[in-house]
Amino acid sequence: MKILIVEDERLLADSIEELLRSRGFETEAVYDGESALDYVRLGVYDLVILDVMLPGIDGLDVARRARAARMGTPILMLTARSGLEDRISGLDAGADYYLTKPFDSRELLACINAILRRQGAQVDELEFGNTSLDLASALLVCGENSVRLSAKEFEIMRILFSSGERNLPKQAILVKVWGFESEAVENHVEVYVGFLRKKLASIGSNVRIKSIRSLGYHLEVAGDA
Ligand code: CA
Repeated sequence: MKILIVEDERLLADSIEELLRSRGFETEAVYDGESALDYVRLGVYDLVILDVMLPGIDGLDVARRARAARMGTPILMLTARSGLEDRISGLDAGADYYLTKPFDSRELLACINAILRRQGAQVDELEFGNTSLDLASALLVCGENSVRLSAKEFEIMRILFSSGERNLPKQAILVKVWGFESEAVENHVEVYVGFLRKKLASIGSNVRIKSIRSLGYHLEVAGDA
C-alpha cells in the first residue's frame, strides 16, 4: 500500500509518515499543491492524504483537478476547519473522507483503514470482456477455460483489470509491482505483458492488452474497437 502525504507543515508530515511506516505502509511526502498534482498523476498511490491549506494550489483545488483529470485515487482531506460548509466543499471537490485537525493517530489509522476496506470491499473477482480474474486463486477464467497466473503476472493483471480502458503508464505498473527501490526496468513490464497476452489467448479470451507507444497499457474487448 502506497500513501502520498501532502502537508506543508513538515513536522506534521513527518509524524504522519512515521506513523504510517510503522504500520507497514509505504509513504512519500510532498509539501505543496503543484508537487501533489505531479505525484498523483503518477497513478501509483492507493491513497492521498491531502491538507486543505497549502501554499500555491490549495488542497481543494488539487482534489478538483485530480478528479477533473479522471484520477480516481481515494483522497482523505485534512483541515483545521470544521464548519459544515468547509466539509461540504471538500467533499464536492472530490475528497472521499474529511478529518479535522487536530486528530489523534488512532483516528487517522481508523479512517485510512475504512477507506482502504471500502476500496477492496468484498471484491473476489474482477471482470473484463468475457474474462474474469479470480483474486483468491489467481486464475484467469474464460467460460470453461482457465489458466493460473504467476505472482507477478497476477499483480499486473489485477492492476490492468482494475483500470480497464483507462491508460496505465508503464512506469506506474513498474512501481506498483516491483516497488520504488527495485532495479526492475520497463522492459520487465513488457516481458510480463507478453506472457499475459499468451495466457489470454490460450483460454480464448476476447480481452486484449493494448499499448499506445510509450504511454502505457489499457484493456480492450476484441471487436469493440
Ligand atoms: Ca497546511
